[in-house]
Amino acid sequence: TIFNFGSINIDHVYSVDHFVRPGETMTSDHYQKILGGKGANQSVALAKAGCNVVHVGAISKQDTHLLAELEAKGVNTEQIATLDLPTGHAIIQVNKSAENAIVLFPGANHALNAPQIEQVLANAGKNDWVLLQNETNEIDTIIATAKAHGLTLVYNPAPMDKSQVEKHLGDIDLLIVNEVEAMDLAGADNVEDAQARLRAQHPDLQILMTLGAEGVRYLNGDTITETPAFKVEAVDTTAAGDTFIGYALAGFTNDLSVEEVLKQACAASAICVTRKGASTAIPDHKEVSQFLKE
Ligand code: ADP
Repeated sequence: TIFNFGSINIDHVYSVDHFVRPGETMTSDHYQKILGGKGANQSVALAKAGCNVVHVGAISKQDTHLLAELEAKGVNTEQIATLDLPTGHAIIQVNKSAENAIVLFPGANHALNAPQIEQVLANAGKNDWVLLQNETNEIDTIIATAKAHGLTLVYNPAPMDKSQVEKHLGDIDLLIVNEVEAMDLAGADNVEDAQARLRAQHPDLQILMTLGAEGVRYLNGDTITETPAFKVEAVDTTAAGDTFIGYALAGFTNDLSVEEVLKQACAASAICVTRKGASTAIPDHKEVSQFLKE
């Protein structure tokens, strides 16, 4: 089982001619409401990859349809609290050049508490894994509790908060970052320097660095494994990283070889970028096997 301590958001996506200016009221001609949040997307990717995933988080008690939606995608929702708080949500404007401007309200995503975290992990088995991102509160408690229970810890520190993340690099087993996050964290202005610094400072830390259309690099001790991305026509890269993470952890927990893990995760995220949307763009494992046969 993978316990994913993660955000659940409702993304309100508005197409606009330009980003709204101070004092301006603007009409949007297209609106979409989508289940999002890095946490929820990663849980969906894990479930679609065939993993047993328990999502730990919170939403408003008025939005219980989200539980049904996550369950339909295969996510265990028993540890999602329903509270008297708004569900985390994002107001997203997308302009004609496909750039976005986002207002994020964390709401219930910041309502995790230490007793809940302890209660969830007290029942975890020895071979269970814990995954977290940076979109919930209580990051320190989640990491300390998982460590105290001897669980394998995977941290995807997005959005990046350098001082918060640095203090945990000695506690976690696997760090998953994209290029920008790796450079921010290492205080470097290119990927090679970032990699060299992180490896020098934390030789025991396994690092998965996703490099967008370039592919991915996995650093484990002295071994570096690099896998190129698949060449596809990208239409929307939302949730590419989340898809990658779900499939990579599914592969690792199923004891696949590193090469096979990276290939499957690259294939799944390549399919994701050819589709519009976030959680709806994440393929299931049958689609990934089919893609790899073609
Ligand atoms: P994030 O979405 O977190 O910024 P990346 O952009 O690094 O993450 O993408 C994650 C993975 O998705 C990459 O390692 C790659 O395998 C795949 N990917 C991303 N963009 C493309 C693309 N244009 N073509 C094919 N694969 C892609």
